[in-house]
Amino acid sequence: MHRYRVEPGSDAQIVARDTKDLKGFEGDKSAGKAAMKNLNSELEQLQEVLYAEGKHKVLIVLQAMDTGGKDGTIRHVFDGTNPQGVKVASFKKPTDEELAHDYLWRVHDDTPASGEIAIFNRSHYEDVLVVRVHDLVPEYRWRRRYDHINAFEKLLADEGTTILKFFLHISKEEQKQRLQARLDEPTKTWKFARGDLAERKLWDSYIAAYEEAITRTSTEWAPWYVIPADRKWYRNLAISTIIVDTFKHLGMEYPEPEDELAEIVIE
Ligand code: ATP
Ligand code: MG
Repeated sequence: MHRYRVEPGSDAQIVARDTKDLKGFEGDKSAGKAAMKNLNSELEQLQEVLYAEGKHKVLIVLQAMDTGGKDGTIRHVFDGTNPQGVKVASFKKPTDEELAHDYLWRVHDDTPASGEIAIFNRSHYEDVLVVRVHDLVPEYRWRRRYDHINAFEKLLADEGTTILKFFLHISKEEQKQRLQARLDEPTKTWKFARGDLAERKLWDSYIAAYEEAITRTSTEWAPWYVIPADRKWYRNLAISTIIVDTFKHLGMEYPEPEDELAEIVIE
């Protein structure tokens, strides 16, 4: 699954990537779902050690086109983890107060503390994506942001944060089907937003913005992964595998117990 990593310094080449690729797993959907169960229990255990040890911080950034599956990823990948140590921050249109500050101000506050996992459902990347596509600030301002973002993420990494960034890559056709499902299925109509159709018209501009953002900000300390996301089971499996592997390499341990516990008698 690490094949989806965008090597620092190389182009993301989003358009050339197959949104239906399945090469990272030998097996079909049902094997994939079985593998996912195991990954869920591995992550459950690893997250407990992360929390108990209270040393590492983990930041997971999720970005995608509308209907790309950020919500489903959060539900499935973190299924079984302890909500005490996992927090989700969803970044919507900035408030007036947020707009009155620099664009990283609201983000910094939601970064993970020691022992925590923070999941960003959208992120500071919106400030070089939607902001670029809609000309919300002049180009000279958003252009400078790639460097700010790299420096900001380096700061977080230097202070003990492990950062993983995922772009859930769906095709335009898949988005059409998912939007249609939001019109057709009564349990999904609440998710339908007319505004998503306007954004869909800007698909190519968004892809261009993602291409540059991912190319310029995939770094050794905060790599991007472009995940084939047309198939939800595969998307979940890919992201879980990458997260679990990364956690295993942190070398985490439960903290040392207090001395001489064996001598304690509880009356
Ligand atoms: P869902 O995919 O389930 O609809 P969502 O993440 O799209 O969830 P919405 O409330 O529908 O949530 O959309 C949030 C909107 O806020 C998006 O259109 C996004 O582009 C916008 N947004 C986020 N950050 C910024 C920002 N910094 N500047 C301008 N718009 C932003
Ligand atoms: Mg939306």
